[in-house]
Amino acid sequence: MARYKGPVCRLCRREGVKLFLKGERCHSEKCAIEKRNFVPGQHGKTKKLKKVLGYGLQLREKQKARRIYGLLETQFRNNFEKAAAQKGITGETMLALLERRLDNVVYRMGFGTSRAQARQVVRHGHILVNGKKVNIPSYVVKPNDTVEVRESSRKNPTILAARDATAHYPAPSWLEVDRDGLKARVTGQPRRDELVQIQLNEQLIVELYSK
Ligand code: SF4
Repeated sequence: MARYKGPVCRLCRREGVKLFLKGERCHSEKCAIEKRNFVPGQHGKTKKLKKVLGYGLQLREKQKARRIYGLLETQFRNNFEKAAAQKGITGETMLALLERRLDNVVYRMGFGTSRAQARQVVRHGHILVNGKKVNIPSYVVKPNDTVEVRESSRKNPTILAARDATAHYPAPSWLEVDRDGLKARVTGQPRRDELVQIQLNEQLIVELYSK
């Protein structure tokens, strides 16, 4: 599946907020938002920021969410359509579906320092869901599923380094994580207040796609 391959800090600078796309670096003083918090481009430093309203605001919220989860437009739109077809509040359902993607679950378990790294861990076949290998990052887990690192990958240096680096981050309440056992059980649905590290108004995304 295609994915964005350009410079990622540029995406944060475009949105003007930290999107936490680079793991540990995002929490350090090397973060581009800390050093150069102005829009990218030749005239970025001198550009006056216009107040964004209406469609522009809806678009920026959608782009933020899409970039946080590392999806291209079509993938993100499909996710919205799935959420819209389900009962409940569409915006919250959409974010819950994004949270339950396997790459995000591996990130939340702490076995990738960023969603991009967690996606690679899944892609390389290191993860089992209910005992079966699943290498599809968009696979959506459900309550009572067990997600674990495959026996032959338990000494994988990338996974172990990520686990150590993320040891101080709490796991969300809907995941029961056994860090030593390199596994987790999905105990329920993601809670809205635990979804993302930044302010996101999902209602604006729903309005954008409902036009
Ligand atoms: Fe780069 Fe992370 Fe800072 Fe974003 S939050 S600018 S990805 S270091």
